[in-house]
Amino acid sequence: MSSPPEHVSAQPGRERFSIPVSTLASGYALSIPVLAITGTKPGPRIGVSAMIHGDELDGLLIVRKLWRTIEPAELSGSLWLMPVANPLAMEAVTRNTPIDMLDMNRLFPGAPDGWLSEQQAHAITAGFINQVDRLIDIHAGGTFPWVDYCYVLNDEAFSRAFMSALLYKPTTMYPATTASAALARNIPITVVEIGGGYHDQAEHVRNGVRGVLNMLRHAGALPGPVEHRPCQLLLNEIKVMRPRHGGLCIPARQLTPGTWLDGGEKLADIVSPHSFDTLETMTTPFERNVVVLTRNYATRINPGDYAFMMGNSATAVWYD
Ligand SMILES: [Zn+2]
Repeated sequence: MSSPPEHVSAQPGRERFSIPVSTLASGYALSIPVLAITGTKPGPRIGVSAMIHGDELDGLLIVRKLWRTIEPAELSGSLWLMPVANPLAMEAVTRNTPIDMLDMNRLFPGAPDGWLSEQQAHAITAGFINQVDRLIDIHAGGTFPWVDYCYVLNDEAFSRAFMSALLYKPTTMYPATTASAALARNIPITVVEIGGGYHDQAEHVRNGVRGVLNMLRHAGALPGPVEHRPCQLLLNEIKVMRPRHGGLCIPARQLTPGTWLDGGEKLADIVSPHSFDTLETMTTPFERNVVVLTRNYATRINPGDYAFMMGNSATAVWYD
């Protein structure tokens, strides 16, 4: 177990602190809030971060519930919760940081003399990722898409304990993410993708809380038996489907992550908002597909945006 930094008490209980980043042009100080629960027994320090992307609210809702329900008396070690890793992006409901328009989750470990997003990434790396023994980074589909899967990176059992139906082991990760910073330290890291889109998020939040609590039991931070979800599907190949053209994305039907589709099935038309002509039709890419990310209602879409994600069943593996 790492010893706590000076600003965090080693005494059991709840406390809040902030990781300073910078002074904004308006003169206001920008800092990243952290909620710490210190348990009564020794154990690992586990970090849970949310809202690196400012349009992914589910992680914040999951962290809110964890903060309210986990008691120091039942916790071994400590839990550090970062509810809003990118406060300006959260305020603007944007994926990227509005001031420099950069995606902070492609800039880790960041730089103290870089763009604001690089400075934020640097502060989070030094003040959070480098201070924990395990990391869970929560993402979602964003304002329009809906997603439900969990990455398998360096600790398969830890990832499986989140209990997503779909797991994904990428051959190449996006560069310079929170996961890259955690992998560089060789600490167990799981990135979870849950919720988003135009519908009630309550079920995603419930599943997210249940999954994180199970991961905490798996890591020995909470007492009780670890739940096992049978029949999880490990995907080795996912196609991110980005339209060539922007406009309206009109889905062919409503889909749920985990649904199976044949090859060549129509997913959506991309329609011009000027002429209402169909600019392109998006169809399933593999012979047999499993839905990973979907858009279920007519939405605005940019060229190159996340429209759908489909897993390839030919390279997928079932777990017991
Ligand atoms: Zn994200």
